[in-house]
Amino acid sequence: MDGRAEDPAKLVEDDRTCLWHPFTQQRGWEEEDPVIVARGEGTDLLDVHGRRYIDGVSSLWCNVHGHRHPRIDAAVRAQLDRVAHSTMLGLTHPTAISLARRLVDLAPPGLTRVFYSDSGSTATEIALKMAFQFWHQRGGEDRRRTRFVALRDAYHGDTIGSVSVGGIDLFHSLYRPLLFDTLKAEPGDVADMARLFDRHPGEIAAVIMEPLVQGAAGMLVHPPGYLGAVRDLCHQHGALLICDEVATGFGRTGKMFACEHEEVAPDILCLAKGLTGGYLPLAATLATERIYEGFLGEHGDFRTFFHGHTYTGNPLACAAALATLNVFEEDRTLQRLGPKIELLGELLEPIAARPAVAGVRRCGTMTGIALADYPVDLRMGHRVTLEARRRGAIIRPLGDTVVLMPPLSISERDLRRLVTITGVAIDEATRRSGLAEAA
Ligand SMILES: *Cc1c(COP(=O)(O)O)cnc(C)c1O
Repeated sequence: MDGRAEDPAKLVEDDRTCLWHPFTQQRGWEEEDPVIVARGEGTDLLDVHGRRYIDGVSSLWCNVHGHRHPRIDAAVRAQLDRVAHSTMLGLTHPTAISLARRLVDLAPPGLTRVFYSDSGSTATEIALKMAFQFWHQRGGEDRRRTRFVALRDAYHGDTIGSVSVGGIDLFHSLYRPLLFDTLKAEPGDVADMARLFDRHPGEIAAVIMEPLVQGAAGMLVHPPGYLGAVRDLCHQHGALLICDEVATGFGRTGKMFACEHEEVAPDILCLAKGLTGGYLPLAATLATERIYEGFLGEHGDFRTFFHGHTYTGNPLACAAALATLNVFEEDRTLQRLGPKIELLGELLEPIAARPAVAGVRRCGTMTGIALADYPVDLRMGHRVTLEARRRGAIIRPLGDTVVLMPPLSISERDLRRLVTITGVAIDEATRRSGLAEAA
């Protein structure tokens, strides 16, 4: 590699000069010393100085079996020796076909069709367009089904369609003039959802929701039975149910998919993040045969789903995804996860008891530690992550909620270390600001 490009000081300078980071106030970023990740090893990340950190949020909720997993690495290399990219528009390829087969076998019953794209945002965007077009093409009264119900504090991605069904004001409210109008339901409140259906008879195309836990909302966990109740309401009123498992899918809640906890099979299922084990960008929107058939017709009927991204079904990404699913089986990942989830619960108890912590929300491995009410300007969540970084763990907050979501492959030893570091980081950050008592 270019020796110059590897000089850490030069890298920092070029980052500050040339880059614009996502969800980042660049003014603060330019003042900080960035961690430049040079390599990964299992559940650790190593920076350009050789410092080692636990990847406490799975590289933004994506990594599943650890970094540089030998079998996933080998699968991507083997695919490289065949072809890196070809198109799904007018052609097909073995890896995309095999992966679709596997996903259909794995997904909740009835989801028989796999539509690929490349991010969680596109997976949900596609789900919305599919649902809308499905009802339109059925004609008659069904054409009135044009509205979507989304949950308050929902997050489904950053494209305009997925933002339209988003409910996090900080991210979304500015774009209001660009968005289509949606109906907002109170998360966890079945009666509120029922009221929306009653007020808009025959108008609702679909309910879109993150099942069980709303990740970006700060790991907001729904009461048990809510998902099943929403599914029943959808059935009763003839609307579709779209489950966005971009964050919850692939084991994060303790089962392969969160829907399984309540034996719910949605009409449309959105997958991304963990799909490739955190290796490559790939997403899938799964649909039922009923929806698929709604798009069949003669060419002149124009019932085609006119949607597709250039890198849709990329072979390298599909190879990583297939290998990721194989590792789930070979390593018995889900079976071995139960004890880790239990341990995580125990380890978090003393953290929840701290005065600086308002509460801990958790579903499986998805953990949100809500800090006490500190002034926004203190950026207490961010301070905690800086303290954690000094002690060898990478975590990233959502506002003043400290998120933990380690790779499923994390060892019990590292899980203990991660939670210990997080606890000390909370103590240090809140003590340093002299606000531990004030909270
Ligand atoms: C992250 C996320 C998305 C968006 O995925 P991207 O790949 O970032 O576009 C959508 N829905 C949920 C629930 C997510 O957590």
